[in-house]
Amino acid sequence: MHRKTIVELNTPLRTGEISSVELTQAFLDRIGQYQDLNAFITVASTTALEQAQASDDHRKNRDPRPLEGIPIAQKDIFCTEGILTTCGSKMLSNFISPYDATVIQRFKAAGAIILGKTNMDEFAMGSSNETSFYGPVKNPWAKQAVPGGSSGGSAAAVAAQLAPAATGTDTGGSIRQPAALCGITGLKPTYGRVSRYGMVAFASSLDQAGPMTRTAADAALLLNVMAGFDPKDSTSVDKPAPDYTTTLNDDLKGIRLGLPKEYFGDGLAADVAKTIDKSIEELKRLGAKIVDISLPNSTLAVPCYYVLAPAEASSNLSRFDGVRYGYRAADYDDLNDMYRKTRSQGFGEEVKRRIMIGAYTLSAGYYDAYYLKAQQLRRLIADDFHNAFGQCDVILGPTTPTTAFDLGAKTDDPVSMYLNDIYTIPANLAGLPGMSIPAGLGEDGRPIGLQLIGNAFEEAQLLNVAHQYQQATDHHKQAPKGFE
Ligand code: GLN
Repeated sequence: MHRKTIVELNTPLRTGEISSVELTQAFLDRIGQYQDLNAFITVASTTALEQAQASDDHRKNRDPRPLEGIPIAQKDIFCTEGILTTCGSKMLSNFISPYDATVIQRFKAAGAIILGKTNMDEFAMGSSNETSFYGPVKNPWAKQAVPGGSSGGSAAAVAAQLAPAATGTDTGGSIRQPAALCGITGLKPTYGRVSRYGMVAFASSLDQAGPMTRTAADAALLLNVMAGFDPKDSTSVDKPAPDYTTTLNDDLKGIRLGLPKEYFGDGLAADVAKTIDKSIEELKRLGAKIVDISLPNSTLAVPCYYVLAPAEASSNLSRFDGVRYGYRAADYDDLNDMYRKTRSQGFGEEVKRRIMIGAYTLSAGYYDAYYLKAQQLRRLIADDFHNAFGQCDVILGPTTPTTAFDLGAKTDDPVSMYLNDIYTIPANLAGLPGMSIPAGLGEDGRPIGLQLIGNAFEEAQLLNVAHQYQQATDHHKQAPKGFE
Protein backbone atom coordinates (compact mmCIF):
# COMPACT_ATOMS: atom_id res chain seq x y z
CA MET A 1 0.00 0.00 0.00
CA HIS A 2 2.86 2.43 0.78
CA ARG A 3 3.82 2.43 -2.91
CA LYS A 4 0.50 3.86 -3.98
CA THR A 5 -0.14 7.50 -4.75
CA ILE A 6 -3.19 9.24 -3.26
CA VAL A 7 -5.03 8.85 -6.57
CA GLU A 8 -4.32 5.10 -6.41
CA LEU A 9 -5.26 4.79 -2.73
CA ASN A 10 -8.74 6.20 -3.32
CA THR A 11 -9.98 2.97 -4.96
CA PRO A 12 -9.08 0.44 -2.24
CA LEU A 13 -10.41 2.87 0.37
CA ARG A 14 -13.66 3.26 -1.53
CA THR A 15 -14.20 -0.45 -2.16
CA GLY A 16 -13.38 -1.27 1.45
CA GLU A 17 -10.36 -3.40 0.48
CA ILE A 18 -8.52 -1.38 3.11
CA SER A 19 -9.75 0.89 5.89
CA SER A 20 -8.19 4.19 6.84
CA VAL A 21 -7.25 2.69 10.22
CA GLU A 22 -5.32 -0.09 8.45
CA LEU A 23 -3.69 2.34 6.06
CA THR A 24 -2.72 4.75 8.84
CA GLN A 25 -1.32 1.87 10.92
CA ALA A 26 0.74 0.71 7.93
CA PHE A 27 2.35 4.13 7.56
CA LEU A 28 2.89 4.46 11.33
CA ASP A 29 4.69 1.09 11.20
CA ARG A 30 6.88 2.27 8.35
CA ILE A 31 7.71 5.50 10.19
CA GLY A 32 8.81 3.34 13.12
CA GLN A 33 10.85 1.07 10.87
CA TYR A 34 12.80 3.96 9.28
CA GLN A 35 13.26 6.14 12.34
CA ASP A 36 16.95 6.56 11.53
CA LEU A 37 16.01 9.00 8.75
CA ASN A 38 14.86 11.39 11.51
CA ALA A 39 12.11 12.66 9.21
CA PHE A 40 9.60 13.25 12.02
CA ILE A 41 9.82 15.39 15.14
CA THR A 42 6.48 14.11 16.44
CA VAL A 43 4.61 10.98 15.39
CA ALA A 44 0.96 11.47 16.32
CA SER A 45 0.03 7.75 16.51
CA THR A 46 -2.90 8.01 18.93
CA THR A 47 -4.67 10.97 17.34
CA ALA A 48 -3.92 9.67 13.83
CA LEU A 49 -5.66 6.37 14.58
CA GLU A 50 -8.60 8.21 16.18
CA GLN A 51 -8.93 10.41 13.10
CA ALA A 52 -8.70 7.33 10.87
CA GLN A 53 -11.48 5.61 12.82
CA ALA A 54 -13.62 8.74 12.53
CA SER A 55 -12.95 8.82 8.79
CA ASP A 56 -13.94 5.15 8.40
CA ASP A 57 -17.17 5.92 10.30
CA HIS A 58 -17.81 8.97 8.11
CA ARG A 59 -17.40 6.87 4.98
CA LYS A 60 -20.03 4.38 6.17
CA ASN A 61 -22.76 6.97 6.45
CA ARG A 62 -21.85 9.84 4.18
CA ASP A 63 -20.16 10.75 0.91
CA PRO A 64 -16.38 10.68 1.17
CA ARG A 65 -14.64 14.06 1.47
CA PRO A 66 -11.77 14.98 -0.92
CA LEU A 67 -8.96 13.35 1.10
CA GLU A 68 -11.11 10.88 3.04
CA GLY A 69 -8.90 8.63 5.16
CA ILE A 70 -5.59 9.66 3.53
CA PRO A 71 -2.68 10.00 5.97
CA ILE A 72 -0.63 13.17 5.46
CA ALA A 73 2.58 14.30 7.18
CA GLN A 74 2.56 17.96 8.24
CA LYS A 75 5.62 20.18 8.42
CA ASP A 76 6.23 21.14 12.04
CA ILE A 77 5.74 24.80 11.17
CA PHE A 78 1.93 24.52 11.19
CA CYS A 79 0.16 24.96 14.51
CA THR A 80 -1.73 21.81 15.44
CA GLU A 81 -4.15 21.82 18.33
CA GLY A 82 -3.04 19.38 21.00
CA ILE A 83 0.08 18.20 19.12
CA LEU A 84 3.55 19.67 19.69
CA THR A 85 4.57 22.43 17.22
CA THR A 86 8.31 23.09 17.48
CA CYS A 87 9.29 24.71 14.16
CA GLY A 88 12.53 22.77 14.57
CA SER A 89 13.58 24.97 17.49
CA LYS A 90 14.41 24.57 21.15
CA MET A 91 12.49 27.83 21.56
CA LEU A 92 9.22 26.02 20.84
CA SER A 93 10.25 22.59 22.11
CA ASN A 94 7.43 22.67 24.70
CA PHE A 95 4.80 24.49 22.64
CA ILE A 96 1.39 22.93 22.17
CA SER A 97 -0.83 25.22 20.15
CA PRO A 98 -4.37 25.89 21.40
CA TYR A 99 -5.61 26.11 17.79
CA ASP A 100 -5.10 24.66 14.30
CA ALA A 101 -3.52 26.58 11.42
CA THR A 102 -5.98 27.16 8.57
CA VAL A 103 -4.07 24.65 6.42
CA ILE A 104 -4.48 22.01 9.15
CA GLN A 105 -8.17 22.86 9.58
CA ARG A 106 -8.68 22.43 5.86
CA PHE A 107 -6.95 19.03 5.81
CA LYS A 108 -9.09 17.88 8.73
CA ALA A 109 -12.27 19.14 7.06
CA ALA A 110 -11.25 17.21 3.92
CA GLY A 111 -11.07 13.96 5.91
CA ALA A 112 -7.26 13.66 5.95
CA ILE A 113 -5.34 12.05 8.81
CA ILE A 114 -2.40 13.86 10.46
CA LEU A 115 0.35 11.24 10.76
CA GLY A 116 2.75 13.54 12.56
CA LYS A 117 4.94 16.62 12.31
CA THR A 118 8.00 16.54 10.10
CA ASN A 119 11.52 17.68 10.89
CA MET A 120 12.72 20.96 9.42
CA ASP A 121 15.44 23.57 9.62
CA GLU A 122 15.00 25.78 12.68
CA PHE A 123 12.32 28.38 11.87
CA ALA A 124 12.63 27.23 8.23
CA MET A 125 16.08 28.82 7.93
CA GLY A 126 18.31 26.52 5.95
CA SER A 127 18.80 24.47 2.81
CA SER A 128 19.95 21.19 4.29
CA ASN A 129 17.86 20.47 7.38
CA GLU A 130 21.05 20.68 9.44
CA THR A 131 19.90 23.65 11.52
CA SER A 132 17.11 21.68 13.23
CA PHE A 133 17.31 21.48 17.03
CA TYR A 134 16.16 17.87 16.51
CA GLY A 135 19.16 16.92 14.38
CA PRO A 136 19.61 16.51 10.65
CA VAL A 137 17.37 14.44 8.40
CA LYS A 138 19.00 11.85 6.15
CA ASN A 139 18.31 11.68 2.44
CA PRO A 140 16.74 8.27 1.66
CA TRP A 141 18.68 8.16 -1.64
CA ALA A 142 22.04 8.39 0.14
CA LYS A 143 22.09 8.47 3.91
CA GLN A 144 25.32 10.49 4.02
CA ALA A 145 23.58 13.23 2.02
CA VAL A 146 21.28 16.05 3.10
CA PRO A 147 17.61 15.91 2.08
CA GLY A 148 17.59 19.66 1.39
CA GLY A 149 15.74 22.16 3.49
CA SER A 150 13.95 23.61 5.13
CA SER A 151 11.14 21.08 4.47
CA GLY A 152 13.65 18.21 4.56
CA GLY A 153 11.63 15.95 6.84
CA SER A 154 8.58 16.20 4.59
CA ALA A 155 10.66 15.49 1.47
CA ALA A 156 12.44 12.51 3.04
CA ALA A 157 9.14 11.11 4.39
CA VAL A 158 7.48 11.21 0.95
CA ALA A 159 10.58 9.86 -0.85
CA ALA A 160 10.91 6.97 1.62
CA GLN A 161 7.16 6.39 1.38
CA LEU A 162 6.57 6.95 5.09
CA ALA A 163 3.57 9.07 4.02
CA PRO A 164 1.75 9.34 0.69
CA ALA A 165 2.12 13.13 0.84
CA ALA A 166 3.25 15.98 3.06
CA THR A 167 3.08 19.72 3.40
CA GLY A 168 5.98 22.13 3.13
CA THR A 169 6.57 25.86 3.21
CA ASP A 170 8.75 27.83 0.82
CA THR A 171 10.29 31.22 1.63
CA GLY A 172 13.24 30.96 -0.73
CA GLY A 173 12.99 27.40 -2.02
CA SER A 174 12.13 25.21 0.93
CA ILE A 175 9.52 23.15 -0.91
CA ARG A 176 11.19 22.95 -4.32
CA GLN A 177 14.81 22.43 -3.22
CA PRO A 178 14.19 19.43 -0.89
CA ALA A 179 11.68 18.04 -3.42
CA ALA A 180 14.46 18.15 -6.03
CA LEU A 181 17.10 16.61 -3.77
CA CYS A 182 14.76 13.79 -2.64
CA GLY A 183 13.25 13.06 -6.07
CA ILE A 184 9.65 14.09 -5.35
CA THR A 185 7.13 16.63 -6.63
CA GLY A 186 6.80 19.95 -4.76
CA LEU A 187 4.71 23.02 -5.49
CA LYS A 188 5.06 26.51 -4.03
CA PRO A 189 1.86 28.39 -4.87
CA THR A 190 1.49 32.08 -5.69
CA TYR A 191 1.95 34.32 -2.64
CA GLY A 192 -1.50 34.73 -1.09
CA ARG A 193 -2.99 31.55 -2.59
CA VAL A 194 -2.70 29.49 0.62
CA SER A 195 -3.45 30.92 4.06
CA ARG A 196 -0.50 31.64 6.35
CA TYR A 197 -2.72 31.77 9.45
CA GLY A 198 -1.21 29.55 12.13
CA MET A 199 1.99 28.96 10.16
CA VAL A 200 4.98 30.09 12.23
CA ALA A 201 6.28 33.20 10.43
CA PHE A 202 9.79 33.41 9.01
CA ALA A 203 9.66 36.15 6.33
CA SER A 204 6.02 37.11 5.99
CA SER A 205 6.22 38.67 2.52
CA LEU A 206 7.79 35.49 1.10
CA ASP A 207 6.41 32.51 3.08
CA GLN A 208 3.97 30.25 1.28
CA ALA A 209 2.75 26.72 2.03
CA GLY A 210 2.29 24.01 -0.56
CA PRO A 211 2.06 20.27 -1.26
CA MET A 212 4.93 17.76 -1.43
CA THR A 213 3.84 14.59 -3.18
CA ARG A 214 5.04 11.84 -5.49
CA THR A 215 3.06 13.06 -8.49
CA ALA A 216 1.58 16.24 -9.96
CA ALA A 217 -1.89 14.63 -9.87
CA ASP A 218 -1.55 14.19 -6.09
CA ALA A 219 -0.25 17.76 -5.73
CA ALA A 220 -3.43 18.96 -7.49
CA LEU A 221 -5.55 17.05 -4.95
CA LEU A 222 -3.69 18.61 -2.04
CA LEU A 223 -3.74 22.11 -3.51
CA ASN A 224 -7.51 21.80 -3.98
CA VAL A 225 -7.74 21.43 -0.21
CA MET A 226 -5.09 24.01 0.76
CA ALA A 227 -5.88 26.91 -1.63
CA GLY A 228 -8.50 29.54 -1.02
CA PHE A 229 -9.29 32.81 0.69
CA ASP A 230 -8.93 33.06 4.45
CA PRO A 231 -10.25 36.16 6.23
CA LYS A 232 -7.81 35.38 9.08
CA ASP A 233 -4.79 36.12 6.83
CA SER A 234 -4.71 39.69 5.54
CA THR A 235 -2.40 38.69 2.68
CA SER A 236 -4.65 35.86 1.53
CA VAL A 237 -6.09 36.70 -1.88
CA ASP A 238 -9.87 36.69 -2.29
CA LYS A 239 -9.93 34.90 -5.62
CA PRO A 240 -11.71 31.57 -6.14
CA ALA A 241 -9.37 28.61 -6.60
CA PRO A 242 -10.10 26.36 -9.57
CA ASP A 243 -10.35 22.56 -9.34
CA TYR A 244 -6.71 21.82 -10.15
CA THR A 245 -7.45 18.26 -11.28
CA THR A 246 -9.63 19.27 -14.24
CA THR A 247 -6.84 20.70 -16.41
CA LEU A 248 -4.16 18.07 -15.74
CA ASN A 249 -4.78 16.40 -19.08
CA ASP A 250 -4.85 19.50 -21.26
CA ASP A 251 -2.76 19.16 -24.38
CA LEU A 252 0.67 20.84 -24.31
CA LYS A 253 0.64 21.62 -28.03
CA GLY A 254 1.81 25.14 -28.65
CA ILE A 255 2.57 25.98 -25.01
CA ARG A 256 5.57 28.31 -24.86
CA LEU A 257 8.28 27.26 -22.41
CA GLY A 258 10.89 29.91 -21.62
CA LEU A 259 14.50 29.00 -20.85
CA PRO A 260 16.20 31.82 -18.92
CA LYS A 261 19.85 31.96 -19.98
CA GLU A 262 20.86 32.96 -16.44
CA TYR A 263 19.68 29.55 -15.16
CA PHE A 264 22.07 27.63 -17.40
CA GLY A 265 25.34 29.45 -16.79
CA ASP A 266 28.30 29.07 -14.43
CA GLY A 267 27.71 27.07 -11.30
CA LEU A 268 25.31 24.58 -12.86
CA ALA A 269 26.73 21.05 -12.56
CA ALA A 270 27.20 19.25 -15.89
CA ASP A 271 25.04 16.26 -14.97
CA VAL A 272 22.19 18.52 -13.85
CA ALA A 273 22.44 20.54 -17.09
CA LYS A 274 22.37 17.35 -19.17
CA THR A 275 19.33 15.99 -17.36
CA ILE A 276 17.42 19.26 -17.72
CA ASP A 277 18.25 19.30 -21.45
CA LYS A 278 16.71 15.82 -21.75
CA SER A 279 13.53 16.99 -20.00
CA ILE A 280 13.31 19.90 -22.43
CA GLU A 281 13.54 17.45 -25.35
CA GLU A 282 10.77 15.37 -23.81
CA LEU A 283 8.53 18.43 -23.43
CA LYS A 284 9.23 19.38 -27.05
CA ARG A 285 8.04 15.93 -28.09
CA LEU A 286 4.83 16.66 -26.19
CA GLY A 287 4.27 19.70 -28.40
CA ALA A 288 5.82 22.51 -26.37
CA LYS A 289 7.64 25.37 -28.09
CA ILE A 290 10.92 26.50 -26.56
CA VAL A 291 11.66 30.22 -26.25
CA ASP A 292 14.96 31.71 -25.08
CA ILE A 293 14.40 34.36 -22.46
CA SER A 294 16.43 36.41 -20.00
CA LEU A 295 15.89 37.27 -16.34
CA PRO A 296 18.77 39.75 -16.13
CA ASN A 297 18.44 40.63 -12.43
CA SER A 298 18.01 37.07 -11.17
CA THR A 299 21.73 36.79 -10.43
CA LEU A 300 21.16 39.41 -7.71
CA ALA A 301 18.31 37.48 -6.11
CA VAL A 302 20.43 35.77 -3.44
CA PRO A 303 21.93 38.98 -1.97
CA CYS A 304 18.52 40.68 -2.22
CA TYR A 305 16.84 37.79 -0.38
CA TYR A 306 19.52 37.64 2.32
CA VAL A 307 18.80 41.25 3.21
CA LEU A 308 14.99 41.06 3.09
CA ALA A 309 14.38 37.63 4.65
CA PRO A 310 16.57 38.24 7.73
CA ALA A 311 15.04 41.72 8.14
CA GLU A 312 11.55 40.24 8.30
CA ALA A 313 12.76 37.34 10.43
CA SER A 314 14.37 39.64 12.99
CA SER A 315 11.07 41.36 13.62
CA ASN A 316 8.95 38.17 13.43
CA LEU A 317 11.18 36.37 15.91
CA SER A 318 11.12 39.19 18.47
CA ARG A 319 7.95 37.57 19.86
CA PHE A 320 9.98 34.68 21.26
CA ASP A 321 10.99 36.25 24.54
CA GLY A 322 10.17 33.62 27.14
CA VAL A 323 7.17 35.54 28.44
CA ARG A 324 3.98 34.09 26.99
CA TYR A 325 4.89 30.70 25.57
CA GLY A 326 7.79 28.52 24.50
CA TYR A 327 11.15 28.07 26.16
CA ARG A 328 12.26 30.22 29.10
CA ALA A 329 15.77 30.15 30.64
CA ALA A 330 15.76 28.50 34.07
CA ASP A 331 17.92 31.02 35.93
CA TYR A 332 18.01 34.79 35.45
CA ASP A 333 18.50 37.94 37.49
CA ASP A 334 15.91 40.32 36.09
CA LEU A 335 13.64 40.80 33.07
CA ASN A 336 16.40 41.83 30.67
CA ASP A 337 18.55 38.94 31.78
CA MET A 338 15.58 36.59 31.24
CA TYR A 339 15.17 37.85 27.65
CA ARG A 340 18.89 37.59 26.96
CA LYS A 341 19.32 34.11 28.37
CA THR A 342 16.08 32.77 26.89
CA ARG A 343 17.00 33.95 23.40
CA SER A 344 20.68 32.94 23.69
CA GLN A 345 19.75 29.45 24.81
CA GLY A 346 16.57 28.99 22.77
CA PHE A 347 17.83 29.92 19.30
CA GLY A 348 20.46 28.09 17.27
CA GLU A 349 23.42 29.59 15.40
CA GLU A 350 21.76 30.16 12.02
CA VAL A 351 18.69 31.81 13.55
CA LYS A 352 20.92 34.12 15.61
CA ARG A 353 22.92 35.00 12.49
CA ARG A 354 19.70 35.98 10.67
CA ILE A 355 18.36 38.03 13.60
CA MET A 356 21.64 39.94 13.79
CA ILE A 357 21.79 40.58 10.04
CA GLY A 358 18.15 41.68 10.06
CA ALA A 359 18.53 44.00 13.04
CA TYR A 360 21.61 45.52 11.41
CA THR A 361 20.09 46.15 7.97
CA LEU A 362 16.97 47.68 9.50
CA SER A 363 18.85 50.00 11.83
CA ALA A 364 18.91 53.76 11.25
CA GLY A 365 21.84 54.65 9.02
CA TYR A 366 21.92 51.26 7.26
CA TYR A 367 18.29 50.99 6.26
CA ASP A 368 18.68 53.03 3.04
CA ALA A 369 21.87 51.28 2.03
CA TYR A 370 20.56 47.73 2.51
CA TYR A 371 16.85 47.24 3.13
CA LEU A 372 15.60 49.95 0.79
CA LYS A 373 18.07 48.93 -1.96
CA ALA A 374 16.98 45.30 -1.63
CA GLN A 375 13.32 46.31 -1.94
CA GLN A 376 14.14 48.20 -5.13
CA LEU A 377 16.00 45.18 -6.47
CA ARG A 378 13.04 42.98 -5.60
CA ARG A 379 10.89 45.13 -7.85
CA LEU A 380 13.38 44.78 -10.73
CA ILE A 381 13.39 41.00 -10.31
CA ALA A 382 9.58 40.94 -10.41
CA ASP A 383 9.66 43.15 -13.54
CA ASP A 384 12.01 40.65 -15.23
CA PHE A 385 9.38 37.94 -14.78
CA HIS A 386 6.65 40.25 -15.98
CA ASN A 387 8.58 40.89 -19.20
CA ALA A 388 9.41 37.19 -19.62
CA PHE A 389 5.75 36.19 -19.37
CA GLY A 390 5.10 38.41 -22.38
CA GLN A 391 7.14 35.87 -24.38
CA CYS A 392 6.34 32.54 -22.73
CA ASP A 393 3.71 30.73 -20.63
CA VAL A 394 5.91 28.77 -18.23
CA ILE A 395 9.59 29.19 -17.33
CA LEU A 396 11.78 26.06 -17.17
CA GLY A 397 15.12 25.41 -15.55
CA PRO A 398 16.96 23.41 -12.92
CA THR A 399 15.70 23.59 -9.32
CA THR A 400 19.18 23.40 -7.82
CA PRO A 401 22.72 23.77 -9.20
CA THR A 402 23.83 20.32 -7.95
CA THR A 403 22.42 17.08 -6.57
CA ALA A 404 22.25 16.58 -2.78
CA PHE A 405 25.54 17.35 -1.05
CA ASP A 406 26.91 15.41 1.91
CA LEU A 407 25.91 16.18 5.49
CA GLY A 408 28.37 18.66 6.98
CA ALA A 409 29.79 19.70 3.59
CA LYS A 410 28.55 23.30 3.79
CA THR A 411 27.78 23.90 7.44
CA ASP A 412 30.89 26.07 7.95
CA ASP A 413 30.27 28.17 4.87
CA PRO A 414 26.92 29.99 5.02
CA VAL A 415 27.44 31.72 1.67
CA SER A 416 27.93 28.48 -0.26
CA MET A 417 24.86 27.12 1.58
CA TYR A 418 22.85 30.20 0.56
CA LEU A 419 23.84 29.75 -3.10
CA ASN A 420 21.86 26.52 -3.23
CA ASP A 421 18.73 28.56 -3.62
CA ILE A 422 19.94 30.66 -6.52
CA TYR A 423 17.29 29.28 -8.90
CA THR A 424 14.40 29.13 -6.43
CA ILE A 425 14.61 32.50 -4.65
CA PRO A 426 13.60 34.70 -7.63
CA ALA A 427 10.07 33.20 -7.73
CA ASN A 428 9.58 33.99 -4.02
CA LEU A 429 10.75 37.57 -4.48
CA ALA A 430 8.25 37.96 -7.34
CA GLY A 431 5.48 36.08 -5.47
CA LEU A 432 5.12 33.58 -8.33
CA PRO A 433 4.22 29.88 -8.23
CA GLY A 434 7.05 27.38 -8.74
CA MET A 435 7.27 23.65 -8.92
CA SER A 436 9.97 20.99 -8.86
CA ILE A 437 9.47 17.56 -10.42
CA PRO A 438 11.84 14.59 -10.64
CA ALA A 439 13.85 14.64 -13.88
CA GLY A 440 16.29 11.78 -13.38
CA LEU A 441 19.40 10.91 -11.40
CA GLY A 442 22.83 12.53 -11.39
CA GLU A 443 26.20 10.79 -11.80
CA ASP A 444 26.16 10.08 -8.07
CA GLY A 445 22.75 8.37 -8.31
CA ARG A 446 21.06 11.25 -6.46
CA PRO A 447 17.88 12.91 -7.79
CA ILE A 448 17.68 15.99 -10.01
CA GLY A 449 14.71 18.35 -10.09
CA LEU A 450 13.23 20.20 -13.05
CA GLN A 451 11.80 23.56 -12.03
CA LEU A 452 8.71 25.15 -13.58
CA ILE A 453 7.82 28.76 -12.75
CA GLY A 454 4.42 30.15 -13.69
CA ASN A 455 2.72 33.50 -13.85
CA ALA A 456 0.70 34.58 -10.79
CA PHE A 457 -2.19 32.19 -9.99
CA GLU A 458 -1.23 29.86 -12.86
CA GLU A 459 -0.69 26.82 -10.62
CA ALA A 460 -3.06 24.84 -12.84
CA GLN A 461 -0.75 25.37 -15.81
CA LEU A 462 2.31 24.18 -13.86
CA LEU A 463 0.42 21.10 -12.72
CA ASN A 464 -0.71 20.45 -16.29
CA VAL A 465 2.85 20.59 -17.67
CA ALA A 466 4.15 18.48 -14.78
CA HIS A 467 1.39 15.89 -15.15
CA GLN A 468 1.90 15.56 -18.91
CA TYR A 469 5.64 15.15 -18.36
CA GLN A 470 4.96 12.48 -15.73
CA GLN A 471 2.62 10.64 -18.10
CA ALA A 472 5.50 10.41 -20.58
CA THR A 473 8.37 9.61 -18.16
CA ASP A 474 8.89 7.46 -15.08
CA HIS A 475 11.44 9.44 -13.03
CA HIS A 476 8.76 10.15 -10.42
CA LYS A 477 8.13 6.41 -10.03
CA GLN A 478 11.64 5.55 -8.90
CA ALA A 479 12.05 4.85 -5.22
CA PRO A 480 15.34 4.96 -3.33
CA LYS A 481 16.99 1.59 -2.69
CA GLY A 482 15.88 -0.04 0.53
CA PHE A 483 12.57 1.81 0.58
CA GLU A 484 10.78 0.06 -2.29
N1 GLN B 1 17.25 28.17 2.21
C1 GLN B 1 16.59 29.44 2.30
C2 GLN B 1 16.88 30.05 3.64
O1 GLN B 1 17.65 29.50 4.35
C3 GLN B 1 15.12 29.27 2.09
C4 GLN B 1 14.40 28.69 3.25
C5 GLN B 1 12.94 28.59 3.04
O2 GLN B 1 12.44 28.63 1.91
N2 GLN B 1 12.22 28.49 4.14
O3 GLN B 1 16.37 31.06 4.00
